[in-house]
Amino acid sequence: MGQEAEIQEPFYRKCLWCGDLKPMNGTVLCSDCEEKIFYGKCLSCDDWGLVNHSALCSDCEGKIQRNFIRQRHWNYVEAAFVLPPAKREELRQQVIKKYGEKLEIFKDSSR
Ligand SMILES: [Zn+2]
Ligand SMILES: [Zn+2]
Repeated sequence: MGQEAEIQEPFYRKCLWCGDLKPMNGTVLCSDCEEKIFYGKCLSCDDWGLVNHSALCSDCEGKIQRNFIRQRHWNYVEAAFVLPPAKREELRQQVIKKYGEKLEIFKDSSR
C-alpha cells in the first residue's frame, strides 16, 4: 500500500538567536526566543535583522555583555546571575583573555 500521511515530527534546528538545538516548525527562533526577539534595526550597528528587547543584534548584545563583565556591572550580566563572586571574577578574566581589556563599544552618540 501507499505511504500514509507523514507524521509531522518537530523539526530540530538551531535557534538563530540562542543557538540551542530545539524543535521548531518552520521558524528560525525557538519558542523561548520567539517571545523576546524581533525583526528590526540594531541600535548599535544599524544592521537590520533579529534584535532583542533592547534593540540590539546578537553580536552587539554579546559585546555589551562583555563590556558589563569588564566593568563588573554584574547586575546586567545575564550569565552572572547564578555565579558566586569568585566565579564572576573568573568569567571576567576569561573575557579579558579572549577579547582584550578594552571596551568593545559604543552607543556612538555622534551618529
Ligand atoms: Zn532560542
Ligand atoms: Zn548590532
